[in-house]
Amino acid sequence: MKPTVLIVGAGMTGLTAARHLSDHGVESVVLDKGRAVGGRMATRRIGPARFDHGAQHFGLRHPAFRHTADDWIRTGLIREWYDADTANRDGSPNIRYAAVGGMRRIPEHLASGLDVRTGIAVLAINRTTDGFEAITTDGGAASGQAVIATMPVPQMLKLLATSELEPPAPLHSALQGVEYDPCLAVMARLDGPAGLPTGHATPEDSPIAWIGDNEQKGTSPVPAVTIHSTPEFATHHLDTDPGVWVPPLIDAANPLLASRIIDATGHRWRFAEPQSTFDSGAAMFDAGGPIALAGEVFAGARIEGAFLSGRAAATRVLERL
Ligand SMILES: Cc1cc2nc3c(=O)[nH]c(=O)nc-3n(C[C@H](O)[C@H](O)[C@H](O)COP(=O)(O)OP(=O)(O)OC[C@H]3O[C@@H](n4cnc5c(N)ncnc54)[C@H](O)[C@@H]3O)c2cc1C
Repeated sequence: MKPTVLIVGAGMTGLTAARHLSDHGVESVVLDKGRAVGGRMATRRIGPARFDHGAQHFGLRHPAFRHTADDWIRTGLIREWYDADTANRDGSPNIRYAAVGGMRRIPEHLASGLDVRTGIAVLAINRTTDGFEAITTDGGAASGQAVIATMPVPQMLKLLATSELEPPAPLHSALQGVEYDPCLAVMARLDGPAGLPTGHATPEDSPIAWIGDNEQKGTSPVPAVTIHSTPEFATHHLDTDPGVWVPPLIDAANPLLASRIIDATGHRWRFAEPQSTFDSGAAMFDAGGPIALAGEVFAGARIEGAFLSGRAAATRVLERL
């Protein structure tokens, strides 16, 4: 029987893993509870506007990521957005890249041709005679000889505990120490160009950490900005209604903008970015079959970390199949 790998999460990590497995002739089934692929690489349409409301851009530091992204540049999937003021550690320019038409285009590209099923939450993973099977909200069958779990660590620990697949004690306690910063995002449509000189701003002494111009970036055909709160503001307001935290973020954004905000929608990111990371690439343990734990937190954070972790998890699973 041909081996299949069960992957939980169709973000950058899970899809990179699935793609790497496929490149090595191994099938996978990828399940995600979201309506679309991408996880925190998210793009949303509101009326005629489009917003990147999660990840905004990324750098290409690691040679393996650079190699893959060179193809994306060649085919027009991504393009240079801007050159950050701060150089990379090796002195090279810190070019920030973005997907043309919205960040979700990258996970959509990775998912094409793979067995990726969205709108399906994995409630538990059961051991079977030859591997694992997912218990899902849609009741459908999905199984594999190995598992790669890619969601933020607190969600991962919950799923493993429910499934009675707890990792060995040292790994478990290291994972229990992982905390994430939250972020509150506002997607605001404008009645004219945003007028942010470089297409983005990172104001000081503000509840805003970042404001990005989706129109200048090429994500939205009409004026639209994404506002991201600071972690402190988000921690304070995380469990309150958007009616409480959207207005102060708009008030803080108004002086930065050349046009008027005509409507605004809030989005809560409970696990936006990990406060600390590992450099193991992925964590493995055996529970009647290989289980890989992966995600940006295992490889230095952010989109590049997610890519590297997805590849590391797939490589290690391939060695054990
Ligand atoms: C507001 C914000 C701004 C950011 N800005 C940047 C940036 O500018 N540059 C950068 O490099 N990085 C940025 N990041 C971080 C970057 O988005 C992440 O590091 C990266 O996308 C993580 O990918 P992942 O696949 O590891 O996790 P995720 O994208 O979180 O994917 C995990 C997936 O698992 C799914 N899932 C969870 N539980 C279940 C379940 N039980 N069943 C099925 N599916 C499940 C989720 O729906 C999700 O799709 C930002 C993140 C946020 C939130």
